[in-house]
Amino acid sequence: MSEERSTRLLILGSGPAGATAAIYGARAALQPVVIQGLQPGGQLTITTEVENWPGDTSVLGPDLMARMEAQMRHLGVELVADVATAVDLRHRPFRVETDGGLVFRAEALVIATGATARWLGLPAEAKLRGRGVSACATCDGFFFRDRHVAVVGGGNSAVEEALFLTNFARQVTLIHRRDRLRADATNQRRLFAHPKIAVIWNAVVTDIEATPDGMGVAALHLADTRTGAFRRLPVDGVFVAIGHDPATGLFRGQLEMDAAGYIVTAPDSTATSVPGVFAAGDVKDRHFRQAVTAAGMGCMAALEAERFLAAQAQEPGREAA
Ligand SMILES: Cc1cc2nc3c(=O)[nH]c(=O)nc-3n(C[C@H](O)[C@H](O)[C@H](O)COP(=O)(O)OP(=O)(O)OC[C@H]3O[C@@H](n4cnc5c(N)ncnc54)[C@H](O)[C@@H]3O)c2cc1C
Repeated sequence: MSEERSTRLLILGSGPAGATAAIYGARAALQPVVIQGLQPGGQLTITTEVENWPGDTSVLGPDLMARMEAQMRHLGVELVADVATAVDLRHRPFRVETDGGLVFRAEALVIATGATARWLGLPAEAKLRGRGVSACATCDGFFFRDRHVAVVGGGNSAVEEALFLTNFARQVTLIHRRDRLRADATNQRRLFAHPKIAVIWNAVVTDIEATPDGMGVAALHLADTRTGAFRRLPVDGVFVAIGHDPATGLFRGQLEMDAAGYIVTAPDSTATSVPGVFAAGDVKDRHFRQAVTAAGMGCMAALEAERFLAAQAQEPGREAA
């Protein structure tokens, strides 16, 4: 039989959003429980240097997340090494089941399950991630000053990444598998007018060639989608910008989401379509996708959860937002 636990504040996810929600929740005496998921510490645990976290000139992603975990533990947050596998948000307390057979009853819930970048699926791509292969120009563009970089994709994100990279790179080549972009007209105008940007149409990346020491990217191998013709494009880095998948499958049909599956929240708020359920970080943010914005939203979610629970305590029948 499943063990059933009650908690005032349950947090799903232990990346910057979940960790910050837990820190604020603990300091508001909500005794939060965090279900860490398959990737304790979240996306930053798979990167190397982070140079845009305020207060640290440079910090290794895993070290930063280890410090957040230590801070949570110091404040008495309970961390559960498990994965949420089913939720029922129809009634409060909300019911959350885990892979390990636990059942939680939560008076308020913060969803901070993050998102994952879509990759091309090439073996070399995984080996060179953080060594010239990236999915985040804001995070890694700085490392490509005066270099030639490629961006793969054809939507708004790809075009925005390409434009952003012109701040550092000597040359930016956008590679798109079709003969036209999906990006909006304004983005396209800016892209085509930019002297540093070239576009290669109708091409897919078939391989990423490493430098002889294996520590960087030397070139992309491209195939023409119409003729199959091979082309080698020497570059120093490649940014894959073909989209992200928010980890929201669990909540489908129970919370309002946009067409891409991101959780919809009220303006200037982390409140979802279900009172008492809050969403923070990349799971609800298709625009910024940064550790510091995720942490900021985690803070908001905990403060909003605390206010929600306080209002409930005063007026038990009322569903506060
Ligand atoms: C390689 C790489 C480098 C990056 N570099 C930078 C950088 O330099 N600077 C920067 O600001 N940002 C960087 N980012 C982006 C940054 O990591 C994210 O914006 C940030 O981690 C988002 O935080 P989050 O808490 O919303 O989600 P995530 O970090 O994605 O964390 C999600 C959490 O949810 C958990 N989870 C998922 N499903 C479940 C479930 N069913 N049950 C329980 N838990 C679940 C996961 O285990 C994980 O703990 C980088 C990202 C990557 C991939």
